[in-house]
Amino acid sequence: MNLRVPGPTPCPEDVLEAMSRQMINHRGPEFKELIVRVTERLKTLFQTENDLFVLTASGTGVMEAMVVNALSPGDHVLGVSIGAFGDRFATIAETYGAQVERLAFDWGTAADPKLVAEALEKDPSLTAVMLTHNETSTGVTNDLQALAAALRGARPDVLIMVDAISSLGSLPCSVDAWDLDFVGTGSQKGWMVPPGLAMVSISTRAWQAVEQAKMPRFYFDLTKAKDFLEKSQTPWTPAVSQFYAMDVALNTLIAEGIGGIVERHVGLGEHTRRGVKALGLELFAADEASASNTVTAVKVPDGVDGGALNKMMREEYGVVMAGGQAKLAGKIFRIGHLGWASVEDLDATFDALRQALPRLGYQLPEAAQVR
Ligand SMILES: *Cc1c(COP(=O)(O)O)cnc(C)c1O
Repeated sequence: MNLRVPGPTPCPEDVLEAMSRQMINHRGPEFKELIVRVTERLKTLFQTENDLFVLTASGTGVMEAMVVNALSPGDHVLGVSIGAFGDRFATIAETYGAQVERLAFDWGTAADPKLVAEALEKDPSLTAVMLTHNETSTGVTNDLQALAAALRGARPDVLIMVDAISSLGSLPCSVDAWDLDFVGTGSQKGWMVPPGLAMVSISTRAWQAVEQAKMPRFYFDLTKAKDFLEKSQTPWTPAVSQFYAMDVALNTLIAEGIGGIVERHVGLGEHTRRGVKALGLELFAADEASASNTVTAVKVPDGVDGGALNKMMREEYGVVMAGGQAKLAGKIFRIGHLGWASVEDLDATFDALRQALPRLGYQLPEAAQVR
């Protein structure tokens, strides 16, 4: 199967093999070495000297961890959303009693740093801002650097909480240089590791917030994570096999370096957009400049049944694409190209689309027709 969903992503053979190793004592010397090695190298890729923790959770778990550690019930926070995951971040905060001022941008567009900063300036009671770096549901990447700079310009001490789940380890995300307080990501995206680990970095400013924050928390209490990391442990039993996998994936990622990782994803993103347009299809991203280099969202052409397309692609061509989420169900399909993805995987996807689409009533442009 050509797994082209934006997570879980395919894992290289050596990463899968690492998962089959025997268990070890998570409070023993082998795990100690493992967690130190993994944490240090993750910090390199986060470009941070902040504390960094590896939690046993999916991406949503790390979003919840950021919320419950940063905030108190009743806190006023700005929830910037450009899609389903931005909405989810706001909903988690509301679930725990925060008062979220939702600032939504049209799906398919990126957040405007000027408007975000204005929203913050207008309401001095806002203490934190929740941002999505790469909105996987729409295939749009926010200009996180510009957003963070605009927010700091408006309010130097505001807490900046970032869902970087489908960007870190793939797209440029410079945690310290951009002065980001909480930044979370998940193992099953660009990291080429199965689902189960979520990583989060926490700035000094963020730690001050953690001390004040009153939201209920236990499993995701980061002060416990900090205490245990001092002993090179986790408070609760970690997903040991995923740690093995991450250790091996990091060998590859660190050897490639941040520059190489970013360049590879730029190449895959451009290749995908070219391939999509060659089929006469339209990107969902309103402005190609903000189209994501980890996932491409494509409009389902008029007259074609989006559900039937994904089904045919999977069952008859072995290509597993993602559909649209929430209000985009049936309106778009998405092609993941993060982590262990190749130009060949994408070309196979375009070949399959070239064959499947006409069978569902779509007229291919002349140049794309199968000869
Ligand atoms: C995948 C993803 C999530 C959610 O992760 P789960 O692992 O499904 O909980 C959140 N935000 C973004 C941007 C994502 O891509």
